[in-house]
Parts: sequence; structure tokens; C-alpha cells
Amino acid sequence: MSARKRRGQVPHPELRCVCGHRVRRYWNHCPNCSRSLQWRDGDNVTGAECYYCGWMVSDKFSFCPWCASDIYEEGYSSAKPLKAPKGFRMGARCDWGCGSGVQYPMSACPRCGRPQVWNEEDLFEGECPHCNRGVDDWMNACPWCGNDATGRDLIPRALTRVRRLLLVSRIRDWSYRVLLRPGISGVDPRYPKIVEIEQRYVVGKQRQDEIPWTMLVGLITHELGHSFLYHHWEWTRTRRFRRAFGEVDKAYRGMDNSWVYFQRRRIAIAPRDHVSTYAAKHPQEDFAETFRFYVTRRGRLRDLFAEFGQKRKGVSLYEKFLVLHDFVRALRGWN
Ligand SMILES: [Zn+2]
Ligand SMILES: [Zn+2]
Ligand SMILES: [Zn+2]
Ligand SMILES: [Zn+2]
Ligand SMILES: [Zn+2]
Repeated sequence: MSARKRRGQVPHPELRCVCGHRVRRYWNHCPNCSRSLQWRDGDNVTGAECYYCGWMVSDKFSFCPWCASDIYEEGYSSAKPLKAPKGFRMGARCDWGCGSGVQYPMSACPRCGRPQVWNEEDLFEGECPHCNRGVDDWMNACPWCGNDATGRDLIPRALTRVRRLLLVSRIRDWSYRVLLRPGISGVDPRYPKIVEIEQRYVVGKQRQDEIPWTMLVGLITHELGHSFLYHHWEWTRTRRFRRAFGEVDKAYRGMDNSWVYFQRRRIAIAPRDHVSTYAAKHPQEDFAETFRFYVTRRGRLRDLFAEFGQKRKGVSLYEKFLVLHDFVRALRGWN
């Protein structure tokens, strides 16, 4: 029995970064602290490590599947296609048809050295906005490229403004988490704290869709309104909330695929009982828009109500803002 085993270690111990966070084999970075990870042949499985990156390889490889370096060695590297040499499993065939097997998540074929693409849709909750590989919502760093997995580093100005606006509006942080992701902007009621913002506005080759950061503030604040409501869903059961906003359970399809609606900072004249035309689409949108105006106008009801007066808005609109205002105050324990 080896010394290692006597110390009570099992052959496949839970893998952890030095920061203590769990990691998976062959991740490049710790998703918690973003440290670079290195997967050496510590247990002497293959007896070979890449000369360039130090990761475990097989003598039979011609290329390092991790860093794609040429590691061909006469008499060792296999001329024939490789299935699964000792220490490795065959997960798929090389994307380029060289006939060799590749193991997830190799980034290069160990025989021909060409790059491999993995479908990670079922393995992760989302995609990294920097490298498009799989990441989970909780991850701070991308396990593949090591960049900010949330994408928040790409919209720092908008997020700083939003945080500041929430603060001056005296809305307590409900641990929301903004993530830049492909698809559409929105909040899944099953994960009320996760606020996804369509990354197309910020990253990508075609920047035609790019929107100014001030509009991003409107979009994020609107989506935060949905998150806030889902997080405090029991509030929608109260009589006062229902009288003001109506039946929020009413069926509807999410319509948040356009930021255009959220750029207006002024109250619309029509419709009379809603803060914007978008708000009239559904009680949940009504709330999200009310929340957006409440926050972007810094919770200053006096200013808002003065504008309502000029625009002859209906009494019920004042009540919506009062309901929200009182709830925000109650959350802070002022009532
Ligand atoms: Zn770590
Ligand atoms: Zn290497
Ligand atoms: Zn290949
Ligand atoms: Zn990445
Ligand atoms: Zn919405």
C-alpha cells in the first residue's frame, strides 16, 4: 500500500482548488477564484506530462490535447488513430475526421492537433459571454477562459449606476445576480434572483445592436423589477397590491425581447393609468415598469406626481407608486 493511500486518500478524491472551492478535472480555472489549474499526472497514471503546459498526456499523443502544442516523439507517438490510451476515455471522435478519439473537454485532438468543439448545453446553465463555453449561474470566473463568467465586467458603468439608483431609492438588496447571456433578457420565476440581460447589446462581432449604457440602465432596472416581484411574490396576494396592479398570475408570454420600450425616462401621456405603453401589456410588466420609473427617478414621488399632474394621469397610477413606496419602506422596517 502506498503512503498516499495509507493517509486515507481515495483514488478519486473530491477535487478542490487551493481556495477550497470544488472544481472538475480538466477545468482551466477555478470558477470561484479564477486561479489557473494544472492537471499533472500526480498518480503516475500515464507517466507523461506535456513539456509545455505540464498537464497529463499520453506518450501516444502527437499533440497536447490541452494546450495544442506539438509533442510528437519518434517511436512513442502513435501513427494510427487513437481510441483511448491508458488514462483517457474516448468521449467522441475528432471533429476533423482524423479517426482519433477525444475526451471531454479536450480543446485539441491528441493526434491531429486541431481544435475541438463540445456541445455543453446539457452540462451547464449558460454560456460565458467571453468564450461562449458552458458556465453555471453561480460561477464568478469561467472555468475555461478565466474571465468574469457573469459578463458584469462588460457593463460596469450601467451596473454601478443601477446599484447607486437602488441605494438612493432605499430599496434593500435582495441578492439579485445580473448575468450577461445570449437569448433574451428576462427573469425565470423559478430563479427569481437571476436577472439575465441579452449580451448581444454589449458583446459580439456585429455591434449594430449595441445600445448606450444609459438605456442599459433602463433595461436592467426593468428586469430587476421582475426579479423583485418574484422574490416578494407573497406581496402580490395582498388586497392592496391586487387593487393597484391586478391579477399578476394572468397567463402571458414573456415579451422582454426589446429594449426600445425601456429607453424612455419621461412618463408617457397615454395610456392614462399606466406609466408607459409597455406597462399596459400585462400586470407583471406594469409592475416592472412602475419599478423602473420608481428607481430611475430615485424614489422621488413628489417629482413623479407633479409630472403625472401635468400629463393628467389617472388616480390609479398614483396608487401603484404609493403601494410600491410603502412596501419598500416596510421592507426597511420603517412602518
Ligand atoms: Zn479557487
Ligand atoms: Zn500542453
Ligand atoms: Zn484529429
Ligand atoms: Zn469563458
Ligand atoms: Zn418585462
